[in-house]
Amino acid sequence: MRLQNKVALITGAASGIGRETALLFAREGASVVCADVNDAGGQETVKMIADGGGTAVFVHADVSQAADCQNMVQVAEETYGQLNILFNNAGIMDGRDDDAINTEEDVWDLTMAINVKGVFLGCKYGIPALRRAGGGSIINTASFVALVGAATPQLAYTSSKGAVLSMTRELAVIHARENIRVNALCPGPLRTELLMKFLNTEEKKQRRLVHIPMGRFGEAKEMAAAALFLASDDSSYVTGTEFMVDGGITAAYVTPE
Ligand code: NAD
Repeated sequence: MRLQNKVALITGAASGIGRETALLFAREGASVVCADVNDAGGQETVKMIADGGGTAVFVHADVSQAADCQNMVQVAEETYGQLNILFNNAGIMDGRDDDAINTEEDVWDLTMAINVKGVFLGCKYGIPALRRAGGGSIINTASFVALVGAATPQLAYTSSKGAVLSMTRELAVIHARENIRVNALCPGPLRTELLMKFLNTEEKKQRRLVHIPMGRFGEAKEMAAAALFLASDDSSYVTGTEFMVDGGITAAYVTPE
């Protein structure tokens, strides 16, 4: 088991990447703190872990709120004695997100509050806990859209993920000598609720698929496997990276027929 005796805090653990990662980390021996605004989904994740013989607890947290982020870290330390892995994964893609002309300010502000400030607050309260544990691994979920532009506009989301990447790099440099590694996970387009709600017609789905060399959407499980690598000591010399797990989409100029 690759995460034996480790304590992992995962935001957005009620569904998608967060849930699959929580399940995998628990199978690899970690005690998992599942944080989310979706209480029913988060509790379901905890139940799935418990049913599989693993250890987990749910904590309600809106990552855009400082008090909630402080509390989720406190729950990790009080329940399991320490924090070793922080997965800042919660994020939204608002269906109203559009180009510069058509994106409303409230959509921009909400996207930044959750996707960017949420990562900052997770680190603000999580890093002192990782220091107390003698170091650890932080993984921030960015996206392939931080590296390439899309003609299907989602300006607030794309901008928020760019901020996650630059924040990740600077954090990695600042904390490198403290045995704290900080990496971004950049998923490609996935077959999760978040994206399928956004690409809500067959035409929109096909428009995205045509750009992916592998010709399919990724699975949340495939992101969990990448997160496990970044969380575990297998990646002990890896920090400040933008780890692409995207079916080749950012490498492609022209995709095969
Ligand atoms: P998802 O919608 O299945 O899961 C996101 C989770 O975050 C949900 O459980 C939701 O309740 C939670 N959440 C939303 N707002 C929150 C808040 N304020 N505080 C706490 N939790 C909150 O989507 P997913 O695909 O698993 O997304 C996880 C991450 O991956 C996100 O950061 C997303 O931007 C990123 N991502 C997704 C894709 C994709 O194609 N699905 C691609 C690239 C990046």
